[in-house]
Amino acid sequence: MADSAICRELQELLPGRVRTGEPMKNHTSWRIGGPSEIFVEPAGREELQLVVSHAHRRQVPLMVIGNGSNLLVTEGGIRGIVVKIGSDLGRITTRDLRITAEAGAKLAGVAAVARDKGLGGFEFSAGIPGTVGGAVVMNAGANGSSICSLVHKVLLLSLEGEFYQKANKDISFGYRTSILQSEPAIVVEAEFFCHFKDKKEITAEMERHLNRRRQTQPLGYPNAGSVFKNPPGDSAGRLIEAAGLKGLRIGDAQISTVHANFIINLGSATARDILKLVELAREKVLGCFGVELQLEIKVIGND
Ligand SMILES: Cc1cc2nc3c(=O)[nH]c(=O)nc-3n(C[C@H](O)[C@H](O)[C@H](O)COP(=O)(O)OP(=O)(O)OC[C@H]3O[C@@H](n4cnc5c(N)ncnc54)[C@H](O)[C@@H]3O)c2cc1C
Repeated sequence: MADSAICRELQELLPGRVRTGEPMKNHTSWRIGGPSEIFVEPAGREELQLVVSHAHRRQVPLMVIGNGSNLLVTEGGIRGIVVKIGSDLGRITTRDLRITAEAGAKLAGVAAVARDKGLGGFEFSAGIPGTVGGAVVMNAGANGSSICSLVHKVLLLSLEGEFYQKANKDISFGYRTSILQSEPAIVVEAEFFCHFKDKKEITAEMERHLNRRRQTQPLGYPNAGSVFKNPPGDSAGRLIEAAGLKGLRIGDAQISTVHANFIINLGSATARDILKLVELAREKVLGCFGVELQLEIKVIGND
């Protein structure tokens, strides 16, 4: 447990940037999640380094979030310190074919800069509501591409408070995974390599992707995108639908009638409701098809 002394120390180090008992539902796309003991939004990388070093010195657990669009936080909330990497760490710069973006920059913002500069590569990401940090850690992808094909190198901050770099080849990217999911480090910045492409073509491709999402995803309700990874050669949505679970509702959580790999929050769904649907989907799909579904979302928090 982080005690009130640690909270006071952090408030002195980062005035106006530290809150206690912040409801995590305000920071997740599912609009679900209990309080975080200490919640910090650093104003830049120096403040980020300060809070990380302080947590290390005082041995308080620290968890990093971006836009919370791939997260299920339980009602028990999060012990220790939650650091939100947001728009204050959101600088985007370009040089030739290179785009450098801080971890808190929205993927949509990076894609817009790329489009305006006639740099191709980020079209696939249209409609993914994450930050650069979350996208790199998750190796976010869609439409046959993923961010790993653009990443050149990443600037990280260790939980001891030291900056270091990693090249693409050392990040072990895979389908919705990277070594950064198990490495105790924070993504601070990423450098991407794009290619020249006609602006009109980029715009048209992004519009096409966005339109398809509007038609095939339940964007009118809070959700966290795909709950499960697609098993090799198949789609989790197809399997869940074929198992007869489309539309199934527990409390205010529902397996979407539009896309069965999405679980939507109809109003006051709890993490427990979502997790019950997750378990049901897993059991049914295993029973019907012998396929073990793997979670794509990250579940965090106390019971
Ligand atoms: C409507 C909708 C559509 C979606 N479509 C897609 C899609 O097509 N493809 C896809 O891949 N995903 C999709 N997602 C899921 C999600 O947007 C992506 O996984 C995104 O990359 C997560 O970014 P985030 O900033 O929200 O990360 P968060 O959800 O905040 O965090 C995700 C994980 O990354 C870690 N993390 C976040 N930032 C950092 C950092 N700076 N340093 C270290 N660790 C960090 C967190 O600890 C957590 O483990 C969708 C989600 C929604 C709601």
